[in-house]
Amino acid sequence: MELLNTKKYGGYDVHFLDTLSVNFECPVCRMAFREPIQTDCGHRLCLSCSEEIKIRNEGVLICPLDKSISDKTFSDKAYEREILQLKVKCGNFQNNCEWTGELKLLSVCFFFQIK
Ligand SMILES: [Zn+2]
Ligand SMILES: [Zn+2]
Ligand SMILES: [Zn+2]
Repeated sequence: MELLNTKKYGGYDVHFLDTLSVNFECPVCRMAFREPIQTDCGHRLCLSCSEEIKIRNEGVLICPLDKSISDKTFSDKAYEREILQLKVKCGNFQNNCEWTGELKLLSVCFFFQIK
């Protein structure tokens, strides 16, 4: 069971305290990058979004921004860390949970909600 986010495809669909910077927004799913990868052309995509593009293009990763073909990608751990440090509201804030904190800690709050 994945506690951080029930949605496996695309980025983090969570409520950020501050407006999400476009730098952290995946050009495919328009959400905050989940497991960001960097393409040959220097753009970033969520891992799952890049895989979705490959499925549609017979295994070829075509950058959605400049249409260039990427042979090599690397997972951008530094970027992922920055995103996981962004402040978010609990997914249960509409049910009066007032917890806010770093995205990486969101699952802790959910955990207590479920219990
Ligand atoms: Zn590109
Ligand atoms: Zn994405
Ligand atoms: Zn909560």
